Amino acid sequence: MDIEQFRRAGYQAIDHICDYYYSLRNMAVAPQVEPGYIRRALPSAAPHTGEAFEKIVQDYHKLIVPGLMHWQHPRFFAYFPTASTFEAILGDLYANGIGPNPGFNWSASPACTELEAVVMDWAAEMLGLDSTFHNASGIGGGVLQTSASDSSLVATVAARSRFIRQHPNVPAEKLVLYTTTQTHSLGKKAGLVLGLNVRALAVTAEDSYALRGATLKRALEEDAKAGMHPFMLIATVGTTSSGAIDRLEELGDIFVAVPSLWLHVDAAWAGVSMACPEYRDLCLLDDINKYADSVCTNFHKWGLVTFDCSTLWVRERKNLTDALDITPEFLRSTHGDAGTVIDYRNWHLGLGRRFRALKLWFVLRSYGVRGFQRYIRQTVQRSDTFVSLIKQSAHFRLITPPCLSLSVFRLEPPARSFDQGQLNALNRAFYACLSARQDVAFTQTDLNGTICIRCAVGAERTEEADILQAYEVLCEEANKTLDAWDKMERREK
Ligand SMILES: *Cc1c(COP(=O)(O)O)cnc(C)c1O
Repeated sequence: MDIEQFRRAGYQAIDHICDYYYSLRNMAVAPQVEPGYIRRALPSAAPHTGEAFEKIVQDYHKLIVPGLMHWQHPRFFAYFPTASTFEAILGDLYANGIGPNPGFNWSASPACTELEAVVMDWAAEMLGLDSTFHNASGIGGGVLQTSASDSSLVATVAARSRFIRQHPNVPAEKLVLYTTTQTHSLGKKAGLVLGLNVRALAVTAEDSYALRGATLKRALEEDAKAGMHPFMLIATVGTTSSGAIDRLEELGDIFVAVPSLWLHVDAAWAGVSMACPEYRDLCLLDDINKYADSVCTNFHKWGLVTFDCSTLWVRERKNLTDALDITPEFLRSTHGDAGTVIDYRNWHLGLGRRFRALKLWFVLRSYGVRGFQRYIRQTVQRSDTFVSLIKQSAHFRLITPPCLSLSVFRLEPPARSFDQGQLNALNRAFYACLSARQDVAFTQTDLNGTICIRCAVGAERTEEADILQAYEVLCEEANKTLDAWDKMERREK
C-alpha cells in the first residue's frame, strides 16, 4: 500500500467507524456465532501472494463484524464499561500513525516519556491523589500500564523486593500475599506468576463483601504464629462482582503498625469516579492518600480512554526501579545515568511500550475535568434509574447496596417461597434466558454462593430509554423463567 492508497483506505476506515456509531443503537448487542466460525471461513494459511485491500476490508465486514460483542452499545451492561471516545481513538491513530515509538528510555523518544509524566500528574490531580503520587514530586510517580493485572503484578514485584531488602533472611516460601475472596483474579495470578503463597481473606454478605480491619488483624496474628511473612495486601475499591469497597479506614492503623506490609489499592473500575468530589469519601480517597503504597485505576474502563490505559501510581518510585532496573550498557544514557529523566522501562515488565499518554492527553483536554465529571455523573444517574426500577419491582431484589454505577440483583419474587437452592437454580435459568437475548447484555456472578446478576452502566450513549428498555427485557424474561419453572413443578407433581 502506498501513501495515496493509505489515504483512501484511511478515509474509508473513518467513514466505517462513523457509520458504526450511527447504527450502533439499532444493532444487536451480542453476536450470534458458533465457536470455530472464523476458522471454518478462512483458509488454513496466509495467502501466497498479496491480496487487494478492498477484498480484505470486505471480509472484515463479512466475517469479523458479525462476531463482535458491541461493548459501546447503549444497552451493554455486562462485565464493566469500556467507554471509548473519538478523542482516544484519534490519540491511538496519531500514536500508531508515526509507527511505534517505544519510549522505554527518555532518549528513545523524549515526547513519550515527558507527556506521560505530565498527564499522569493531571490524572492524579483530577482524582485527588496526594502530591506524593505525582511525578513532579520526584519521589512517587505515575506510569501507564496495559491492564490492572499488570499494574498489580508490577506493584507486587516492587512490594516483594522491598520486603526482601528489609528482611534478607526470610525465605521466599514464607512470603504471603493477601487478597480477599472478592479480589479480582489478578491477585491469584500475581501469586501464580511470582510463585507466592496467596491467602484470600474472608469477607461476608453482612459486611457487603468488604474486608474488615479485624479480619486482617487476625490473619496477621495467625501468620506470625505460623512463621509466615505477609508482605502485601491487595485491597479493592469497587470489586468486580459487586462494587465492594474494602474498609481502608479500619486497615489504616494496621498499616501504620506494620510498615513492611505494602498496601496496593486496586480501584480498576471505581477509581476514576474520584474525579467527582462527591464520590471521594465513598472511594476512601483520604485513606488511599494516607496508607496506600500503590494505587491503580483503569481509564480504559469507566474513564473514556480506549483500551489500554491502566494508570498506576506509587508513593516511592525507588521501590519500582530498585526491583525492575536492569540496565545493560546499550540502554545507558547520559540523562538516565544522571537521574534527570524517567526511564519508564524500569517502571513496568516489558522494555518497549506503546505511546498511550497521547490518548489520555487528548481525552483530558477535550473533555476537561468538568466534562469528565459530567460523564461519570450521568452514568451514575442512569444506574440510579435502574436501581429504582429494581427496588419497585415485584420480581427482583438488590443483593448488595448499589455502588456508583454498578448494581447486583436477582430474581426473587416475594410472593413465592423458594429456598436458597431453588433461588440459585431459578436465577441460573433466568440468566440463561437473558443471555440468549441479543438486545441487552448483562453478566451473572456468584457472591459467596448467591447466584445473581450484575448491571454495570457506563456507555456514554446509554440513555434513560435504554435503561427502561433493558428493564422491560428483564421483566419479560423473568416472567418466562417463572412460567417455565411452574410448568416444570407441575410436571414433577
Ligand atoms: C476489571 C478489573 C480488573 C481487571 O482489569 P484488567 O485491566 O483487565 O486487568 C481488576 N480489578 C478490578 C477491581 C476490576 O474491576
